[in-house]
Amino acid sequence: MSARQILVVEDEKPIRDMIAFSLKRAGYLVHEAEDCRGAREMLADHRPDLLLVDWMLPDLSGLEFTRQIKRDRETRDVPVILLTARAAESDKVAGLEGGADDYITKPFSPRELLARIQAVLRRSPGAVTEERIEIGGLVLDKPGHRVLVGDAQVVLGPTEYRMLEFFMAHPDRVYSREQLLDRIWGGNVYVEERTIDVHIRRLRKALEDHSMDQLVQTVRGAGYRFSARGV
Ligand code: CA
Repeated sequence: MSARQILVVEDEKPIRDMIAFSLKRAGYLVHEAEDCRGAREMLADHRPDLLLVDWMLPDLSGLEFTRQIKRDRETRDVPVILLTARAAESDKVAGLEGGADDYITKPFSPRELLARIQAVLRRSPGAVTEERIEIGGLVLDKPGHRVLVGDAQVVLGPTEYRMLEFFMAHPDRVYSREQLLDRIWGGNVYVEERTIDVHIRRLRKALEDHSMDQLVQTVRGAGYRFSARGV
């Protein structure tokens, strides 16, 4: 398997150097850009497996850049981790709603950074298994990494795909936010429970375009359930 490629977008050279050094040592192939313009030029040439984007950049905020990445058909499947010095919860939610797959607050250790990257890559459509699951007219085509309703494709980000994959493999059961975090994000990564709600909202919105959002059900005081029953 060839090395996974990560594009680091950060204008502060010492931080960019530290990140690049840690990633290379961990076996990743690293590309670097100091602003969004440079990053866009690199993205035009090839698609990385993951983007690390600083929030404070000279030409455009990392948040706005993330929005652009997620709006673009060519790049929207690339997972994005936002780096920021802003620890406020509202910024975190804004980052996730802007399309980021995760969020790391500076200062962070190389170890934390690598753990986050591994977790995001793990849940981005990667491991292929021969399986096709159909529930209520919604089809998860695992080998093709697609979700279909009839012939129409449901467009999902990597985290929402992973979430739906989990739900469709475990239908008709209620999972608490804590259980979902554990099963979808993995145990050793710190993600707040509110994050689940953000991704549930995005998943529903994608399903809504195909009138399938009722499959993701809120169970008050308990959590979420994926079910075609009682619809
Ligand atoms: Ca910066």
